[in-house]
Amino acid sequence: MTYDLLLMGALVLPDRILDHGWIAVTGETISAVGTGPAPAAARVIDAGTDWIIPGLVDGQTHATSYKGLPGFAATSQSALAGGITTMVDMPYDNPDPLNTMARLDAKIAAAHSHSHCDVALYATVAPGQGTAEMAPLAEAGVCAFKLSLIESHPVRFPRLPADEILDILTASRPTGLPVGLHNEDQEIVRATIARHKAAGQITPEYHEPARPEVAELAATAQFMELGAATGAHVHIVHLSSPRGFEMVADYAARGVRATGELCVHYLHFDATRDVARLGARMKVSPPIRSGVIDGLWQACEDGLPALISSDHSSWPIDNKLVPSIFDAGAGIPGLETLGPSFYTDAAQRYGAAGAVRRLVDYMCRKPAEFFGLAPRKGVIAPGADADLVVLKRGDTRFDASQTRDGLNWSPYDGETFAVSVATTLRRGEIVWDGQTILSAPGSGRFVPRR
Ligand SMILES: [Zn+2]
Repeated sequence: MTYDLLLMGALVLPDRILDHGWIAVTGETISAVGTGPAPAAARVIDAGTDWIIPGLVDGQTHATSYKGLPGFAATSQSALAGGITTMVDMPYDNPDPLNTMARLDAKIAAAHSHSHCDVALYATVAPGQGTAEMAPLAEAGVCAFKLSLIESHPVRFPRLPADEILDILTASRPTGLPVGLHNEDQEIVRATIARHKAAGQITPEYHEPARPEVAELAATAQFMELGAATGAHVHIVHLSSPRGFEMVADYAARGVRATGELCVHYLHFDATRDVARLGARMKVSPPIRSGVIDGLWQACEDGLPALISSDHSSWPIDNKLVPSIFDAGAGIPGLETLGPSFYTDAAQRYGAAGAVRRLVDYMCRKPAEFFGLAPRKGVIAPGADADLVVLKRGDTRFDASQTRDGLNWSPYDGETFAVSVATTLRRGEIVWDGQTILSAPGSGRFVPRR
């Protein structure tokens, strides 16, 4: 038989790397995987000794928090250019969060008219809303719920009090869905910021001390205890330090359904080393800390993060470069740097093969399984969606002015990465050739949790 497409290269499979391997694609699906003589195909992509990996599943994207639902258009093109074929989008949309069936329908419709990549969706619950919409949202395929213990915006990104979180966690149990938390204690953060402002300390180096680790750990511990009391799956969406991962592991060892997520920038930037150079360009919350990079890599070696994500935020640079660091938007673009940055740093520690194995584990397999998208997503195997990426080996200078996200700034601007995304296939279609987005808006699909 003749297949539609054949890819040849160094395949990164779940259990091994297959040099000189091939993947045969029929329509949207992987039909066969092998090595040795390749079958006939209408079209062949020969990647030689370059890596072929599953499309990345970015577990934390904020595509629609600035431009609203049309924000899918640019963000999803950036995803494909970064080798991300599925983004898991957060619910804090502009102007209103995804907390009802009507808003879920609207967001799915927006994905189907604007998105170039596949999309899975978080939902949330507003303060005072009650839990009645949670079961229908889960039934309709949202993959997780997200809450916050700190207010970032009164409507879009509000704070939930602990009694309501308790009810939400209880209601989440029959759905089986993880409930994610933005883990910062509001009172500690607000008081510390006020003290720095009163002392005139408003430059970027005060962002990290104004959101101290204890604010993060106290919120994490509270959520873990609420999880322990309810039996819900409690998930911390970003832990910035090894201590947080140890705490979550302690709860998990005691039988709590507790997980924690790492974002790639915490593995790469250091507050003391980089703040003078980057300023507000590295403002994220919880903040980049000092001296934790080695400990976070060790946490990865110990298997503690459930997944590693970008936390891509679609803030224009104007929103960052303001007189006070406390008025600058938190969040950075990160879809095109997620895989290359992780690979480059990991290669220095574990070599090229060790880097690509870890990348596929933390950015493909684990997020696909975590969000209930496996076995369609996150793996090279017959029957899976033909979401495939050619990672070209060789140093490339990252130029943020060329990114596809419509933002065109990045704290990684000018860095050298050891791989680049040469080709992206989304469900069998070549959607990125290393230069140009080839897909149509709306060709991405909503992927429900299974
Ligand atoms: Zn986030």
